[in-house]
Amino acid sequence: MGKPTGFIEYQRETPVEAAPLMRIAHWKEFSVPMPEEKLQQQGARCMDCGIPFCHTGRIISGMAAGCPVHNLIPEWNDLVYRGQWREALDRLHKTNNFPEFTGRVCPAPCEGSCTVGLNGSPVTIKNIEKAIIDRGFGEGWVVPEPPEARTGKKVAVVGSGPSGLACAAQLNKAGHSVTVYERADRAGGLLMYGIPNMKLDKSYVQRRIDLLAAEGVNFVMGTEIGKDIPASKLKEEFDAIVLCGGATKGRDLPVEGRSLQGVHLAMEFLSKNTKSLLDSGHEDGAFISAEGKDVIVIGGGDTGTDCVGTSIRHKCRSVTQFEIMPRPAETRQPNNPWPEWPRVLKVDYGQEEAAALQGEDPRRYLISTKKLVGDENGHVKELHTVQIEWKRDDQGRFVPVEVPGSEQVYPAQLVLLAMGFMGPEHTVLDQLGVEKDERTNAKAAYGKFSTNVEGVFAAGDMRRGQSLVVWAINEGREAAKEVDRYLMGSSNLP
Ligand SMILES: Cc1cc2nc3c(=O)[nH]c(=O)nc-3n(C[C@H](O)[C@H](O)[C@H](O)COP(=O)(O)OP(=O)(O)OC[C@H]3O[C@@H](n4cnc5c(N)ncnc54)[C@H](O)[C@@H]3O)c2cc1C
Ligand code: SF4
Repeated sequence: MGKPTGFIEYQRETPVEAAPLMRIAHWKEFSVPMPEEKLQQQGARCMDCGIPFCHTGRIISGMAAGCPVHNLIPEWNDLVYRGQWREALDRLHKTNNFPEFTGRVCPAPCEGSCTVGLNGSPVTIKNIEKAIIDRGFGEGWVVPEPPEARTGKKVAVVGSGPSGLACAAQLNKAGHSVTVYERADRAGGLLMYGIPNMKLDKSYVQRRIDLLAAEGVNFVMGTEIGKDIPASKLKEEFDAIVLCGGATKGRDLPVEGRSLQGVHLAMEFLSKNTKSLLDSGHEDGAFISAEGKDVIVIGGGDTGTDCVGTSIRHKCRSVTQFEIMPRPAETRQPNNPWPEWPRVLKVDYGQEEAAALQGEDPRRYLISTKKLVGDENGHVKELHTVQIEWKRDDQGRFVPVEVPGSEQVYPAQLVLLAMGFMGPEHTVLDQLGVEKDERTNAKAAYGKFSTNVEGVFAAGDMRRGQSLVVWAINEGREAAKEVDRYLMGSSNLP
């Protein structure tokens, strides 16, 4: 695969990105496509290692190592190196329904497991994936491929995020008639209304949905199952139901002052922003503005980073991001060896932009919020914090312990809570009588995806808890295979 000496001849190169101070003036994606010759060189770095851990997608130490959809990475690296783009696209679509999404937003556990990364810099797998699919669309190679025959079976998919879309795509391919129900006005789940436009342009999400519709998937938007249509009605009308409703319950901050104005869950901030951007280019004003405000984002993960990038584009006065965990190490530690997912400090786009504007990384580590204080109008004006240390308690568990005398006060007129998600909403699960697991997710074993209710399956974040787009695609595909088997007795779906 690739060029046998490629990894010695060529250094890893990632795409050029627009400078932070330039790109914050707009909401568009900001990475510049690489010239073909460079992409071929990067593909040539794939070293025919014999055991490509990059496509295993195994869970090691609780995290994905390698690609969860098992992309045939060495094969398409080789094809790109040889300039056989059409063949590379066909290989890519064999395992991944939506490479244009993962090529943009996946954290690329494949690269953490790349063998070249053992003592050098890994192959730029994610960027090559993006280049293949972008070229495919650019050349007009990606066209609707409706099934040749229909089975007469009807399947309802609840939720149009990546798991629901992947499931619908596969079931439609098998000839079943699929209806996707979505309560939002646009399909895509968090691809549309979670991840901001500068990370994943919404025209690419809509392009794929239009393609699925042209292949025969029926989309019913603005319809909440359990409210607008009782779940029992789906049970009567469809041969199978797949629940792909995501894990949308945001973790709250139960401290004094939480109910003050100007304190919001991150998802409210992010989804309103994208909706207003798409509806009117922000002309309708139907979003929570950070303009001129000191913004505190509580939560150091991807959602928090998206809040930082969004606040900056609103022209906030300042933005600070709190993280309760310690600052990660800059390089792999002995307890985090290859091919595990590297738990190292990541400087994402939002932090880069904040550093360019404010002169330093916006993150503060080992910090906990004690209370929020408001002004005379009931609007948040400051945040009281304390530093913490992680220490073992009597039972050996790590617990946060406050550092005496470390109290601090931060001015804040907008506070965004991005501390993760608590699991799925339960209306549909309860109406159907679906059992939950100990984390309150829909209970369905991985690999089976069937719930305790006959003909009802669950996939994606609704089953596994808040995760990644690539896992949602994996679950949607695997669940489709099980539904097909349930309906037809066997399945030929990949
Ligand atoms: C802000 C943010 C940024 C993220 N960034 C990344 C990233 O960069 N990379 C990455 O890999 N992952 C990222 N993730 C995680 C990723 O988006 C999710 O893991 C993934 O979208 C889950 O897919 P899903 O299909 O299971 O659910 P979702 O995408 O959550 O979709 C569920 C859909 O179901 C709909 N729904 C729910 N209940 C009903 C009902 N009763 N009736 C009708 N419709 C219903 C919801 O409206 C929603 O549209 C991010 C998450 C967030 C919140
Ligand atoms: S989907 Fe993610 S893990 Fe898989 S090859 Fe693409 S970037 Fe890597």
